[in-house]
Amino acid sequence: LDPRLVSARASAIGARLVLLIVRDVTEQERLDQMRRDFVANTSHELKTPVGAVSLLAEAIESAADDPAQVRVFASRISAEANRLGQLTGRIMSLSRLQAEDGLTEVGPVSIDEVIASSIEAHVVQADSAGVELARGGDRGVWVRGDAQILIEAVGNLIANAIVYSPRGSRVGVGVRADDDVVEIAVSDQGIGIAEADRERIFERFYRADEARSRRTGGTGLGLSIVKHATQRHGGEVRLWSRPGRGSTFTIRLPQIAAPANADRDKKNKK
Ligand code: ADP
Repeated sequence: LDPRLVSARASAIGARLVLLIVRDVTEQERLDQMRRDFVANTSHELKTPVGAVSLLAEAIESAADDPAQVRVFASRISAEANRLGQLTGRIMSLSRLQAEDGLTEVGPVSIDEVIASSIEAHVVQADSAGVELARGGDRGVWVRGDAQILIEAVGNLIANAIVYSPRGSRVGVGVRADDDVVEIAVSDQGIGIAEADRERIFERFYRADEARSRRTGGTGLGLSIVKHATQRHGGEVRLWSRPGRGSTFTIRLPQIAAPANADRDKKNKK
């Protein structure tokens, strides 16, 4: 606390002003602390795969005359490199979303296309996890925003739903449009989320089940991106979950009317 603030005159108006300034300083300190934590956590998260790559490279050097071993180490290096790529990609998304000019390409966005692209990007993951991906609900719904960011947000929810679900279960992606609101719900029949974790999982790097998340290649950033992306679009994320039964994440966005040329564009594309 700045001592000059403390010694400020405590007249009725002055006191209120001091209070405002103090609150402002506290807010600034909180933001600074958040930034410091982010840098510290990020460095920590990056250190693990970088350390692994360097150990594996040494292992390759000493196993040079054993081709089978070399292949094993090389494929682990490649896995760690993928993880690093995913981590840096997510860190960049998050810092872009937190910047003032976070959304670059803003325009009418077809929710049909957002859902189709985000499902398409996860078909292989769902197949190898033995999870059925199903799309349902309203069609022809539009919002205003940045399509790529929305695809990434819905994609993160789908990816999580698959990761935290058992084989043979189903992940549903549904759309519901009311008067002014579009809801995109991603539901799973997976492990669910304990009540105590429901707020915190949207924080950067927070994982309800640290070991499981790391094992499955989680970064702890996916939901944070979902939250910021949704807020950037003037919306909010809701979560319903029952441990052992499953979870539903719902992205609620303001709806806009379909652009006049929407149908024509669609026909031209065919
Ligand atoms: P991660 O990359 O670890 O999945 P996220 O930010 O996407 O990071 O999610 C944070 C945590 O929330 C996860 O580590 C997991 O514990 C929990 N979580 C997210 N989605 C689900 C889900 N669909 N079912 C159960 N737990 C989930």
